[in-house]
Amino acid sequence: MSEAALREQLAALGASLFQRGFSLGSAGNISVRLPDGYLMTPTNSCLGRLEPARISKLGPDWAHLSGDKPSKEVFMHRAVLTARPEAGAVVHLHSTHATAIACIATPGETAPIPPLTPYFVMRIGRALPVIPYYRPGDGAMEPAIHAASKSAKAVLLANHGPVVSGKTLEDAVHAAEELEEAARLALLLRGAGARELTPAQVDDLLSTFG
Ligand SMILES: [Zn+2]
Repeated sequence: MSEAALREQLAALGASLFQRGFSLGSAGNISVRLPDGYLMTPTNSCLGRLEPARISKLGPDWAHLSGDKPSKEVFMHRAVLTARPEAGAVVHLHSTHATAIACIATPGETAPIPPLTPYFVMRIGRALPVIPYYRPGDGAMEPAIHAASKSAKAVLLANHGPVVSGKTLEDAVHAAEELEEAARLALLLRGAGARELTPAQVDDLLSTFG
């Protein structure tokens, strides 16, 4: 897909996430890998009103080249995209239910959401590492996210929210939506004795779709 088409797609998917309440105000940011660098949503931008031409462009060394100034959370995206060469995009949200789980889960935990549905397992996989709390903008978060992302498509930042990668921008957005939905189900079913997928059922899904 051309850079111009990716810019249009980023604005359209950002608006879709915003309109459905996955992102409020200026929360959330999205990055896309390009052959010659990266696209990044601008600082203080609202995902609901992104202008394709103003989306930040960064070089292969993550230096700002053009467009508005990139999000202050750009280092989270760098942490994931450098750890996962197969990832083409990263979506970071403060979506309500995933963030609620991020407030309950213990840092260091790797499966804060149980495997209740196959879609969650197919999109996110077995691991969702919980990264310790860092103040927003604290660069010390980057090595922690980078290390955990080597073996996980998504991580949960304690008391902050999810950071989700995908092969393409559309994949990353779908995975972030699936994570939010799985978190909502996990909260709805807390203490209800819900039947989880068995380890064999999870293995079967990952061997087919992982
Ligand atoms: Zn954030």
